[in-house]
Amino acid sequence: MNPTKLSWKPGAVLALGLAVGAVQAHDRARTPVNIPDIPGYLTLKCDLHIHTVFSDGSVWPDIRAEEAWREGLDAIAITDHIEYQPHKRDLPTAHNRSYEIAKPRGDSLEVAVIRGSEITRQMPPGHLNAVFITDAVSLDTPEWRDALKTASDQGAFIFWNHPGWTGQQPDGVARWYPEHDELLNQGRLHGIEVVNSREYYPEAHRWCLDKKLTMLSNSDIHNPLNLDYDVHAGDHRPITLVFATERSPGAIKEALFARRTAVYGGNRLVGEETWVRPLFERSLTIRNPQVAIRGKGRVYVQIHNHSDLRYELQRAGTVAGLSFPATVSLPPGRTALLEVRGTDADANGVRQIGLPYTVSNVLVEPEQGLQVTLDIQVTFSP
Ligand SMILES: [Zn+2]
Ligand SMILES: [Zn+2]
Repeated sequence: MNPTKLSWKPGAVLALGLAVGAVQAHDRARTPVNIPDIPGYLTLKCDLHIHTVFSDGSVWPDIRAEEAWREGLDAIAITDHIEYQPHKRDLPTAHNRSYEIAKPRGDSLEVAVIRGSEITRQMPPGHLNAVFITDAVSLDTPEWRDALKTASDQGAFIFWNHPGWTGQQPDGVARWYPEHDELLNQGRLHGIEVVNSREYYPEAHRWCLDKKLTMLSNSDIHNPLNLDYDVHAGDHRPITLVFATERSPGAIKEALFARRTAVYGGNRLVGEETWVRPLFERSLTIRNPQVAIRGKGRVYVQIHNHSDLRYELQRAGTVAGLSFPATVSLPPGRTALLEVRGTDADANGVRQIGLPYTVSNVLVEPEQGLQVTLDIQVTFSP
């Protein structure tokens, strides 16, 4: 097309004006994470592994607080590396500064900012985060055992980061070393990242169950959040769900030591059944739990999913007199239809029925989905 032949009609000018207006009205807004509270506890959304320019990150610390606020988080820990300071020619090593800069912005937005550090050593013991420390400078010491003792003496919650990271385990398989037994026996290892960024470590999941450690799921973000996660398309950073008695740093710390957490990474929940079962159950409402079936007729059960997860269900048993789908997908924020049919033309009477399913993306053990029933009352008539 020859540009000189372009003509600007009034409609085109108006459309251009609207487009510019839309850009200028860019929303500076918070989007909630739709994961329900559970009986007795608030479900707080936390990311306890975040980097800034004060180690190898690319973001000034206060921006981390607003990113978290926008993404609906309740708390973050700033955990710059102690031993890895690649920006030190431009920015002097100052281990407490990233927390001190992020904290006021967090306070103004009601996002708790927790002081932390990443103790960054070769495997074993690898990288460990200490959060709820009181002074990061004192962790800067040659011997890793001294750093962890100091953190522990400060009352820190200490967890092992990305145990299957290919930078330290080229095959991506997490391995437990005698050094981890040593830390565990000394009470200086309290949790493990079961999810770090996009990675899930089934070995870490198993260790948390067997050794009674807390499960965590953190971003380990170095870039601006939006470079790595397409938030506006429904993507989200990994989040540690903390079941806390109130919305405060102290309550988060108490819950972490008490192992009241679950892992929310990608479209997956990981956690002990005690926590993930109520999360699943409170995510759903069956809109018409009482249905009537005549003979071999069909009905539709409407299931609304209030959460941000897409729950994937696989049939896990049979029910006499009924057929129901082998797979069901419950999309986030929407109501799904479940088609149920009678298989006995002469059935009669009222029955309470639990349709048995396995939720394949809610893991109570590695490769073991949560077993659930969708409970309905069916009135049969010939
Ligand atoms: Zn690390
Ligand atoms: Zn890190």
